[in-house]
Amino acid sequence: MRKSVAYALLVLLLWAALALPYARRGTPRAAAESLPAAAAPPAEGSAAPATAESGADSAAGTGFDAACRICVLVEGQRRSMDLRRYLTGVLLAELPERFSDACFQAQAVASRTYALRSDAHRRHDPAALCDSASCCQGWLDPDSVSPQRRARAEAAVDATDGLVIRCGGKLIEATFFSCSGGRTEDAAAVWGNDLPYLRSVESLGEEGAAHYRDETRIPLSEFRAALTELDPAVELEGDPALWIGAVVSTAGGGVEEIRLGGRPFRGTDLRKRFALRSTAFELRLEGEEAVFTTRGFGHRVGMSQYGAEAMARAGNDFETILKWYYTGVEIGPAER
Ligand SMILES: [Zn+2]
Repeated sequence: MRKSVAYALLVLLLWAALALPYARRGTPRAAAESLPAAAAPPAEGSAAPATAESGADSAAGTGFDAACRICVLVEGQRRSMDLRRYLTGVLLAELPERFSDACFQAQAVASRTYALRSDAHRRHDPAALCDSASCCQGWLDPDSVSPQRRARAEAAVDATDGLVIRCGGKLIEATFFSCSGGRTEDAAAVWGNDLPYLRSVESLGEEGAAHYRDETRIPLSEFRAALTELDPAVELEGDPALWIGAVVSTAGGGVEEIRLGGRPFRGTDLRKRFALRSTAFELRLEGEEAVFTTRGFGHRVGMSQYGAEAMARAGNDFETILKWYYTGVEIGPAER
């Protein structure tokens, strides 16, 4: 009798762990939020190979990541290391310590994909990539942090050992950023090239991010000089209230183009020129200042780290998170 009850419980638990993440696909957040916490799937979902946290030591010598070497520019110096060490350092640099395991795992898979694709293209020939977060991916020497902090990052790398993201059989450009401000951006809107898996998607629950909303104030004289430098034909005379014209928005709620002083300016150019947090901005003139109110932080294309964390906290596993932010992709083992 007892045995059959235990068996029924086991079957129920297995079903909850395996079936629920898939049943939720499509609307991961809403459904996950309605689940009781106990029914949330374990972070190491069914897609992960058998290198869970407890097996971290054995995975260190046997997994794909440990066997794969990568050349990285660290503070300008070429350093060769195994992919496991590299990815551990990326997680330490890229994510706040308080973020959830599923978010760490999603970041590990995105960063592994990014690194292997960069390796194929030799982004910093002969090195695969550099340690700058604004150029490639941030990297922090795992030896420079506490053993506990390092072990936690390593566990996320090991739990996803060798897993990468593909679209149409090819490694994707797995871009990511801090916070979108509510919606991510199409790749074409920011870089001009259309990639089917980098499409604008909703990204909820980011309100806690430091730069969810931000303000950049520029003295009017500097604003005028900068615009004139970008386009000498701009006419910024007379009443400043008439300087700001029509705005063309992107699918992700960014500024594709804004007319200023009778001339069109690209949102990406203004972001660069005025060091704005993102291209999702509103502009107003206030006294002797131009005021940009921005939403989000970063290029806003691909996976939002704060959005991924919100999904993880709602009970989604790393695979569900990745498939939310990268449209129409598959997740599977890398080829040796
Ligand atoms: Zn770089």
